[in-house]
Amino acid sequence: MSALESVEYLLAHLDFDHDPPCDGNHHGAQVRPAARFRCDQHGCDVFLYCASCEHRERTQIEQTLAAGGTLTCIHCAQDFESFTECVQVAPIPPSGGAR
Ligand SMILES: [Zn+2]
Ligand SMILES: [Zn+2]
Repeated sequence: MSALESVEYLLAHLDFDHDPPCDGNHHGAQVRPAARFRCDQHGCDVFLYCASCEHRERTQIEQTLAAGGTLTCIHCAQDFESFTECVQVAPIPPSGGAR
């Protein structure tokens, strides 16, 4: 397969018509639901989460902070005071509507 063919192959297999699946690891063997939130970890990382995973992550981090824990980025080792300071959450609009 040439380089051009592999790009075309990738494009053909990227499913633009469906919502991206949730990156969360709480779904086990179940089919992953469509992602609803794009969570940008201050440029260090990006996660696509469904509503329940976004809520779970946020709650876990807020509880850790409330208990006196620290929120440290594993990528840049920066400390953060709150979930929203560390992660910018933007809703992903459902696909299909805008086209
Ligand atoms: Zn999820
Ligand atoms: Zn970072």
